[in-house]
Amino acid sequence: MKKHAIFAVLGLFLVSSMWGNTNCKSLRRLYDIDNEEYFAGRLPKDTEIRAVKTKEDVLAQTSYENNHFIITYNTQYNMGQDHEHLVLYHEECHIVTWQSNTESTQHPKEWKNCMRRLKIIGAFDNILFEDFR
Ligand SMILES: [Zn+2]
Repeated sequence: MKKHAIFAVLGLFLVSSMWGNTNCKSLRRLYDIDNEEYFAGRLPKDTEIRAVKTKEDVLAQTSYENNHFIITYNTQYNMGQDHEHLVLYHEECHIVTWQSNTESTQHPKEWKNCMRRLKIIGAFDNILFEDFR
């Protein structure tokens, strides 16, 4: 291996260890695909996906700031792509049921029904069975 290739690999490793492996761009692409396939375009198109390392005990969270939704992944858990996609479904359901949130629960029956519907229509299948053809 040439020297500059070694530095490139080292650089990639340093960058990925600083920000985790969460790829916001590819998650944003998945969000658009999910929106088409499972939400009939009801998810807003201007949702932002961020990755931040926090000590909070959450895998990800959705917030509504400056007139758009932000899904923030917690990179301390380094979940891997499949788990990140499952978490994305969780957050997508938060977005489509946002109005149903109350002070007592952030997972109202509307949110649970959204996740159940995704399960029934097979949204999880490609994640659970992809490698087992
Ligand atoms: Zn939640």
